[in-house]
Amino acid sequence: MPGDIQSGRLSSERIRENFSDLHTPLTELQAIQESARCLFCHDAPCTEACPTDIDIPGFIRKIASGNVTGAAKTILSENIMGNTCGNVCPVEELCEQVCVKNTAEEKPVVIGQLQRYATEHLFERGIQPFERAADSGNYVAVIGAGPAGLSCAHRLAVFGHNVTIFESRDEPGGLNEYGLAAYKMLDDRAAREVAFILDVGGINIETGLSLGTDFELDDLRRKFDAVFVGLGHNAVNTLGIENEAIDAVHNAVDFIERIRQQDLATLPVGRNVVVIGGGNTAIDIAVQIKKLGAETVTLVYRRTTDQMGATDYEQQVAQTNGVLIRTQAQPLRIHSSDNQLTAVEFEYTEIDANGRPKGTGETFVLAADQLFKAIGQSLDATPLGSVEVPELAVGRIKTDPNQHTSLPDVWAGGDCTAGLDLTVTAVQDGKIAAISINEYLNHG
Ligand SMILES: Cc1cc2nc3c(=O)[nH]c(=O)nc-3n(C[C@H](O)[C@H](O)[C@H](O)COP(=O)(O)OP(=O)(O)OC[C@H]3O[C@@H](n4cnc5c(N)ncnc54)[C@H](O)[C@@H]3O)c2cc1C
Ligand code: SF4
Repeated sequence: MPGDIQSGRLSSERIRENFSDLHTPLTELQAIQESARCLFCHDAPCTEACPTDIDIPGFIRKIASGNVTGAAKTILSENIMGNTCGNVCPVEELCEQVCVKNTAEEKPVVIGQLQRYATEHLFERGIQPFERAADSGNYVAVIGAGPAGLSCAHRLAVFGHNVTIFESRDEPGGLNEYGLAAYKMLDDRAAREVAFILDVGGINIETGLSLGTDFELDDLRRKFDAVFVGLGHNAVNTLGIENEAIDAVHNAVDFIERIRQQDLATLPVGRNVVVIGGGNTAIDIAVQIKKLGAETVTLVYRRTTDQMGATDYEQQVAQTNGVLIRTQAQPLRIHSSDNQLTAVEFEYTEIDANGRPKGTGETFVLAADQLFKAIGQSLDATPLGSVEVPELAVGRIKTDPNQHTSLPDVWAGGDCTAGLDLTVTAVQDGKIAAISINEYLNHG
């Protein structure tokens, strides 16, 4: 039956179970045993691989000696979102991949889970390890309350500067609140982290105000001593094929936002679902739709498995959740009847010498009630205005290694600038920018 889309395909109880924690939290005994496996390497490769430069052997040693609060302070002093990152970082490609314990015989130290253990310990006890320096009398505007903006604001506040964050949505947190998979960010973790960041003082958030609509970059440059831009990705890519606008065809990021904000039992889910894309967003939507009760979820990617943006671990998560991954096929047509989706037609691809997919002319059709597009997000620079605009490079705001843009009083970071699109790299960009802004405010 085409158009078989309904909410409550599973009982609320079953949905709750399906969306429970991806990793069971470590117990105290497990954390102590795991920390004892660390060799406390000199010039530790794990720290080298951490985008926020956390002293990993340092914090693990503190857990091993029973100083769990101290461990959390070591983490948070480099990465204020160390708790979220302990849950969502692709550690299998970063710190844990290079851990010297990661051999054929042994598994790496579970750094992400230890990080989460230590930061949970601190949060549960309501400890605030940071104190603001005396008021500097300087005022900084931050645009966007995602990981980049919040990280920048926190470091600036600790330096004693006064920060106002301008955020277009009703709630701060960026993709931590609206994008990360619900089974990675349980309950109110994102909001709890924002509250912890604001608790240091000196940060005021103005929500429901959008750059380019409610205020202009020029206004902020006149009113503030410096500006940080952390807009993230504010546009999604399209397939550019017929019927893309019908109801059952969704942008994955928009639907993921609903998964994060709505009662899960009320979300409309198809019986047979197709997802197009090969990155983590594609995996996240596919897994979550399966957890909501779709009978079949087929993820189709135009290149090979090795070329997928999703890590091997994320691909495994998809497969263990029953998502079928098909590669080397690109969408050709969306079939519909009476404005209802019936099927998606694909063309097989061959990969050329430069790794690019080329259609072979051979096609196949997948019956589908619902289709999710997860083919990438991008920066729409329109909100930056047209008067004096930071220079762009390859569609993102261009920055130097200090996250400084081409404008003397404007910095930028996170997904709207070049680099890996991860929570941890956005946090690092915000931190580096704050250090550079502080230098500029103190020494000109
Ligand atoms: C579905 C999905 C799953 C992901 N999963 C992971 C994961 O598991 N692990 C991981 O490390 N990374 C993951 N990421 C990537 C990660 O979420 C981002 O790299 C990170 O959030 C970037 O932070 P940011 O601050 O640059 O941008 P964002 O988090 O996008 O924050 C930008 C903020 O700016 C605001 N804004 C936008 N336009 C305006 C405007 N005109 N005026 C004012 N405010 C504005 C937005 O509302 C938002 O709050 C995922 C991304 C997606 C989309
Ligand atoms: S590489 Fe592994 S063993 Fe060495 S310090 Fe890091 S976590 Fe410990």
